[in-house]
Amino acid sequence: MKINEIVVISGKGGTGKTTLVASLVPFLGKTVIADCDVDAPDLNILFGNTVKAEDEFIGLQRADLNKDICTNCGLCYEKCKFNAITKDIEISKSKCEGCGVCEFICPVNAITMKDSVVGKVFISDTKYGEMVHARLIPGEETSGKLVTEVRKRSKELANDKNINNIIIDGSPGIACNVIASITGVSKAVIVVEPTLSGLHDLEKVYKLADKFNLKIYVVINKYDLSKEQAEKIEEYCEKENLEIALKIPFNRKMVEAITKKEIPSLYEKDFFEKIGFNEFVQKLIK
Ligand code: SF4
Ligand code: SF4
Repeated sequence: MKINEIVVISGKGGTGKTTLVASLVPFLGKTVIADCDVDAPDLNILFGNTVKAEDEFIGLQRADLNKDICTNCGLCYEKCKFNAITKDIEISKSKCEGCGVCEFICPVNAITMKDSVVGKVFISDTKYGEMVHARLIPGEETSGKLVTEVRKRSKELANDKNINNIIIDGSPGIACNVIASITGVSKAVIVVEPTLSGLHDLEKVYKLADKFNLKIYVVINKYDLSKEQAEKIEEYCEKENLEIALKIPFNRKMVEAITKKEIPSLYEKDFFEKIGFNEFVQKLIK
């Protein structure tokens, strides 16, 4: 079964990406929700936190020292390129990148590589379908792998339950976790705001998304807050042949909806109808 995977991304956080994802969910029909913003996962807060399964996520292996065997020869300290081993042979878990060099060179086998938990993956029930989400342990940096795991489990769920759509709240920016959010999807929606950095944020995320051979739509959020910046974004989209699929005017009620943990598109139904939200949804699911 061909699954329609739709990712919503932005050049930086705080552009209204999650608000848009939450607003889309009730209109997509049967769908799996994937929160790939693993550094700041907040979709589950909006949909009510009803976790029904959780698993630890092993992101990498790290060096583990057996002090009883170690002869303090200092070889591992000299060879660790990540400064994860101190002169008096203590291994810093947060600095260890899991390269395995110390295990390989230790003459007395005092170091063993062991699985390291870097986060958790959850499956929650929501009123609109199951949601896969995750949380990275603070300080861990393997968010790309965790995003890939969330994507993998979302796909398994969709396949098992014969669900056609997956909506993905992607990570903001252009780092590896964003690449993991975009790889293999059918459509990408880039959310941008008409701020001073808005155009630059759009340019960088578009250049990245454009490498993935997928249909890209732009949504300008709060487009009426700066006519000048909104026009610059529109000119850029025209030049790049990028479709602006939705322009959302500033609306205080959207903020009100979020603070009340309500879905904005349901809380402000008339407003969403007026701005062409239904037509936008049709583009995403066809
Ligand atoms: S290489 Fe092995 S024996 Fe030498 S200091 Fe490191 S852990 Fe100890
Ligand atoms: S596994 Fe690599 S990074 Fe980690 S302590 Fe050993 S040499 Fe350093």
